[in-house]
Amino acid sequence: MAENGKPKLALYWAASCGGCEISVLAIHEKILDVAEAFDIVFWPCVLDFKVKDVEALADNEIDVCLFNGAIRTDENEHMAHLLRRKSKVMVAYGSCAMEGCIPGLANFADREQMMQFIYHDSPSTANPDGIEPQTRTEVPEGELELPAFWNTVRTLDQVVPVDYYLPGCPPEAKWTIAAVEAILKNELPPPGSVIGMDVSVCDECPRERHEKKIKRFYRPQEIEPDPNLCLLEQGLFCAGIATRAGCGALCPGVNMGCRGCYGPVEGVRDGGARLISAIASVIDADTPEEIDAVLDTLPDPAGYFYRFGLAHSLLHRTRLAQANGHKVAEPFEEIPHLDPKLAE
Ligand code: SF4
Repeated sequence: MAENGKPKLALYWAASCGGCEISVLAIHEKILDVAEAFDIVFWPCVLDFKVKDVEALADNEIDVCLFNGAIRTDENEHMAHLLRRKSKVMVAYGSCAMEGCIPGLANFADREQMMQFIYHDSPSTANPDGIEPQTRTEVPEGELELPAFWNTVRTLDQVVPVDYYLPGCPPEAKWTIAAVEAILKNELPPPGSVIGMDVSVCDECPRERHEKKIKRFYRPQEIEPDPNLCLLEQGLFCAGIATRAGCGALCPGVNMGCRGCYGPVEGVRDGGARLISAIASVIDADTPEEIDAVLDTLPDPAGYFYRFGLAHSLLHRTRLAQANGHKVAEPFEEIPHLDPKLAE
């Protein structure tokens, strides 16, 4: 508690797009209640706090930390450990912190492959001297430092213990409000809980459903779906059957299949595997050839099934081919020659 008797709140943004930070403001005028109820001690996106401000706090001095973003760099990891040590309650806020989300899709490649493409091979790259970012660079004014880029994206709970999870890309404002109110009233669910609903998006979706028999999938631009009928029945990929509810079925509400950003339904360890199983059960095909023909209409199956959850899945990351002498790095291995300090 602060001297003024208010609980202390920290908000942090690691490897994410920033949408979670915006979503905090989507609680609209309730943000005034948050400012009134909490002493905000760290929110670098919005207020001019420094890391040393957090370091100066006693352990467990922060009552609640809303941590959004995955762990991509050594800076992300350092901040996760620091904020965990300083916070009584650590909340993985949003899909990146909870499951890895879109940053976690980078686990289909490794650091070397990404650097090669981004700084050398991408058609829009002009880099005649082949320069890559270094963690330390000497310039006349002194030494510049950049965070080291880990080989693998991790979720927050793969790095530090997490007390609660707020799913969504980004979380819907009503759940942010619910979490804040639960904290203020000391009515939080048991540690480890996901704050939200434990049914699937289909349970929230008002679309009419019949027996599903899918003979092919369509891209959204290929058909004009019936606005009242289940999208999956019409051949539009929808992850609602295996995704936690809580968003109000927003995407199906605008003729787009659910993408799965609220993560797997309660009790499911690997959302992608559950989704594969659910989709497979509604495909109307008898022979391997017919099954292949249906799957051929699903471009980028990895992106459909593991769009949000790869980093937290049982796969965690892909093993990469050793063809052409390509190095297969261990998941959390730093590439030493790019970081002189870590190579020592
Ligand atoms: Fe479920 Fe998607 Fe069909 Fe709605 S459209 S009922 S979320 S599968």
